[in-house]
Amino acid sequence: MNEMKEMIAAVTACKGADFELQPLKIRQPQGDEVLVKVIATGMCHTDLIVRDQYYPVPLPAVLGHEGAGIIEAIGPNVTDLQVGDHVVLTYGYCGKCTQCNTGNPAYCAEFFGRNFSGADLEGHSAICTHDHAVVHDHFFAQSSFATHALSRENNTVKVTKDVPIELLGPLGCGIQTGAGACINALKVTPASSFVTWGAGAVGLSALLAAKVCGAAIIIAVDIVESRLELAKQLGATHVINSKTQDPVAAIKEITGGGINFALESTGRPEILKQGIDALGILGKIAVVGAPPLGTTAQFDVNDLLLGGKTILGVVEGSGSPKKFIPELVTLYQQGKFPFDQLVKFYAFDDINQAAIDSQIGVTLKPIIKIG
Ligand code: NAD
Ligand code: ZN
Repeated sequence: MNEMKEMIAAVTACKGADFELQPLKIRQPQGDEVLVKVIATGMCHTDLIVRDQYYPVPLPAVLGHEGAGIIEAIGPNVTDLQVGDHVVLTYGYCGKCTQCNTGNPAYCAEFFGRNFSGADLEGHSAICTHDHAVVHDHFFAQSSFATHALSRENNTVKVTKDVPIELLGPLGCGIQTGAGACINALKVTPASSFVTWGAGAVGLSALLAAKVCGAAIIIAVDIVESRLELAKQLGATHVINSKTQDPVAAIKEITGGGINFALESTGRPEILKQGIDALGILGKIAVVGAPPLGTTAQFDVNDLLLGGKTILGVVEGSGSPKKFIPELVTLYQQGKFPFDQLVKFYAFDDINQAAIDSQIGVTLKPIIKIG
């Protein structure tokens, strides 16, 4: 093992535990790896469901998968990135399988191993404690709740230096998931109708993207009034609080029969059923919300069949992050994709407060400032 570097990371020790800041050591980059000084990292609902072990990432581990920062060192096989580049870190993919080779890296044959195994493909961590105890890492090929993160060249996306780098981390997961579900997967068309079930960071990113696509009717459904208020400010033409209103009936009335495009971002199977019910003829629903593994949902098969409806699973917004993330940065610079309105910054010491605020719904997209 080469020389180790000192760093501080927020460790998840066991299921449901608070994040705990600890001094650790990380090795230098090898091969096509890149060592990134993390300036800031978004916190996504997926960090919290892994902390709570909906997905079986081995613990103790360093989570965090919306890192943004500055390249500090590169491995000998890195070709297109340099020390000093501003970068956004995204999910890991092999770059060689059928899906990667056809522009669909989010469906990489090695996706689970490269993002959720808690180690590299050989089963090794790049980090350890000062007494050499193993701490699992490589979470989404980065583990960015830390002052330093080791990624690979293909999941390290270079971005322009004229946008504050501390804002850009969430483009690596939550924001590209919602935006990409609309733009790359559903391919929302001009003058169409769109609904997001769930007005969290993913749902509202989708709402912003539906506006970019030119949808005429844009609906947000949620149970938190402040989120629906924000949805209106961001361009929703209609909002529905499904605690007080039947959302399926309301959507059918607003659209005169059913919606063209929908996003399920609540992670609740009963909402997926409502989402399918509210689709119009030939309507499409993208499923991005992540319930515990093994969750099943019910829907009326003949309604799906006779309506020509489509249910589409979407990982990380589909598309190619090396192309899509810089496109989202450009849309942001043009004022067409104001995702900065979704974020709230927290100090690294306040990472547990960020998690609480995200779970109780007062913060949509926490960004933890680290560097
Ligand atoms: P979030 O918690 O901020 O948003 C979920 C929203 O759903 C909240 O606003 C909540 O109030 C709302 N909601 C909950 N119950 C509801 C109900 N019964 N009716 C209507 N609304 C309800 O989370 P997020 O960060 O926006 O992420 C959304 C989901 O997407 C999570 O499950 C996350 O794990 C998942 N995710 C998936 C991918 C992917 O690649 N598929 C990527 C990122 C996140
Ligand atoms: Zn995420």
